[in-house]
Amino acid sequence: MAKSAFKTHHGMHDILPEESVQWQALEQIIRETARLFHFHEIRTPILEDTRLIARGVGELTDIVSKEMFAFNRGEDQYVLRPEGTASVARAFTQHHLDQRGGVQRLFYIGPMFRAERPQKGRQRQFHQFGVEVLGSAEPIADVESITFMLSVLQKIGLERFTLRLNSVGDVESRKAYKDALIAYFTPLKEQLSEVSQQRLTQNPMRILDSKKEEDQALVAQAPRITDYLNEDCSTHFEEVKRLLDGLEIAYTVDPLLVRGLDYYSKTAFEVSSPDLGAQDALGGGGRYDLLIEELGGKSTPAVGFACGMERLLIAAQEINKRLAEEPRPTVSLIPLGDRAKNWAIKALKELRSDGISATMHYTGSSMKAQMKQANRENAHYTLIVGDNELDSGALTLRDMDNSSESALNWTEVRTKLSKAN
Ligand code: AMP
Repeated sequence: MAKSAFKTHHGMHDILPEESVQWQALEQIIRETARLFHFHEIRTPILEDTRLIARGVGELTDIVSKEMFAFNRGEDQYVLRPEGTASVARAFTQHHLDQRGGVQRLFYIGPMFRAERPQKGRQRQFHQFGVEVLGSAEPIADVESITFMLSVLQKIGLERFTLRLNSVGDVESRKAYKDALIAYFTPLKEQLSEVSQQRLTQNPMRILDSKKEEDQALVAQAPRITDYLNEDCSTHFEEVKRLLDGLEIAYTVDPLLVRGLDYYSKTAFEVSSPDLGAQDALGGGGRYDLLIEELGGKSTPAVGFACGMERLLIAAQEINKRLAEEPRPTVSLIPLGDRAKNWAIKALKELRSDGISATMHYTGSSMKAQMKQANRENAHYTLIVGDNELDSGALTLRDMDNSSESALNWTEVRTKLSKAN
């Protein structure tokens, strides 16, 4: 019986060469934006300590309670990282980045893992890019994070997106707000979904996140966090909005946008796209002034966001085609016979050391098959080499774009291709 061929796990995808070019284009845009904003890349391990993620992301979140790919090895607890902020916060303290002075402005790009139910725009291995600004409590840092994300969206040509903004207060404002939520929901408890009933005692703000119909009607009438902000939070929020207005960045204030974790504070934001369907969030972020201390570091105000790269590519699909043209080799060598093939292998080495992109058919085959391959690869030039050419030293370089041919010696070929590359 034939063995069935292996496949990727559910929700995990190969990125094939024709898609890779789009990924490279997107990564290039992110890196270019980081250069303009003067943010620096940080690369952290894909495996983290499970306890870091539990503490950093929050025990009560879906990510930690249901979606972690975690395992133990000896005494150590490993988890495939589900997001990037906890790792960056860990690295900040581990490497004493605070002692480098000033504000640390970091960005990352990489795969994340969550055991969610896969659907369009939701995978188990997906990719995020994100930024973290560590060491500034100023509203300008929040606005820089937001403008970083919007710059990337604009550069990939995404025009249709919505920025929603809120303030989730600080510990003091949130205590007052949580009390108000408990007072409001308790008499309505029986009408809430089962999860929301649990959240009422554990973390009532997360009821606002509920997608369940029975909860949403009640949530619509619930008290608004914006009415419970103390002066510090309210001034901060007003300043963020004033700066965004000054930059003519459109946003809507959405008092139901909460990040239910206790270390989030003040600004929360999310960007969504109408081109995405059910999973419409492109990215989200906010301020997390308490996280680094919560993870055992020094109290450090911070703000950041993460954006889903698959979703960016889906939303920008049409634009991507323009963005990422298939790379083409400058020259495809077409050797005829063994002697020519031996010559061509050395020629490839010389061309590449000149920085010229050069290919050759690997399986010994006819001139026709080799020409076909050169066409398929969309080579700019072909160089057909047989015994005659090697004896005379006169090589025929064919420009595939306009079908013109020139007879050149090897040095001339290299010079011409260097210019064309
Ligand atoms: P989060 O870290 O949950 O705030 O997510 C930030 C962004 O990452 C979201 O807005 C999505 O664009 C993306 N994202 C989160 N989870 C997934 C997933 N399972 N598959 C694909 N993209 C995701």
